[in-house]
Amino acid sequence: MRRVSETRVYAVALHHRFRGITVREGMLLRGEAGWGEWSPFLEYEPAVAEPWLRAAEEAAAGDWPAPVRSSVPVNVTVPAVQASRAHAIVTAGGCTTAKVKVAEPGQTLADDQARLEAVRDALGPSGRVRIDANGAWSVDEAVAAIPVLDRSAGGLEYVEQPCTTVDELATVRRAVSVPIAADESIRRVADPYLVRDREAADIAVLKVQPLGGVRACLRIAEEIGLPVVVSSALETSVGIAAGVALAAALPSLPYACGLATVQLLTADVVGEPLLPVDGALPVRRPAVDPHALDILGASADRVAHWEARLAACRAVAAS
Ligand SMILES: [Mg+2]
Repeated sequence: MRRVSETRVYAVALHHRFRGITVREGMLLRGEAGWGEWSPFLEYEPAVAEPWLRAAEEAAAGDWPAPVRSSVPVNVTVPAVQASRAHAIVTAGGCTTAKVKVAEPGQTLADDQARLEAVRDALGPSGRVRIDANGAWSVDEAVAAIPVLDRSAGGLEYVEQPCTTVDELATVRRAVSVPIAADESIRRVADPYLVRDREAADIAVLKVQPLGGVRACLRIAEEIGLPVVVSSALETSVGIAAGVALAAALPSLPYACGLATVQLLTADVVGEPLLPVDGALPVRRPAVDPHALDILGASADRVAHWEARLAACRAVAAS
């Protein structure tokens, strides 16, 4: 275990419901090089949250590889909102690539079509549109929906995680012309290289926290042999900085990254948040603002909850 001198727990409201939550909670750990973010989602067991802790400790120790670029192109992220709201988010986002959530429970394909038409209208003809189904479709649903949404979007750059399993991704990939990106099939499985071995994806989505840190992701990127898109786990700018460090260190970065998600939060723990300028994030590590940390500090029972989680996670790491 690396040395941590201080921990703080934050709670930040989201502008829109995202992956079922309206408040984002996490813990910040302070080490020799500054703060690292540990924000595994609340339902995650200690064993699942353990790589997230390694990522936070790596950040707090300042153990990141040297950057090879000074800025990282990013997409604006559009939650499963109404078309008019999607249009406004893309217009305000200042990015030329949009990632749009689809296949939300309780919504229809027509909702997705309307959202994508609005996103294309807001981006203009030269913008790029990608969608993320978070594994919600069956193979048949994916094969039926993807060409329809490809038309609504005026062309899709790729579809992220259309179905749950690696074999389903491989089947869909052979049936549709839109490229397939794997996200959960890399970070939530025992073997992140199965998508490579089964030729189940064209693009690898890597997230620093669930995969155990910047250096762990860099190794996966080298081994997996696919172009990489670095995405966030809906962190504050402290966690986003780790994603930026990974994207900045990759030898090649052909796609915009999914790191412009600070916009989904109503506040941040740093003085100068990692927000996109002209569709890119600068490669830097923003300083935590103690005043913001005080304002966003979680209640005493939530702090106790996170401290118990941390102890359980460390017990897993030590076993
Ligand atoms: Mg995803």
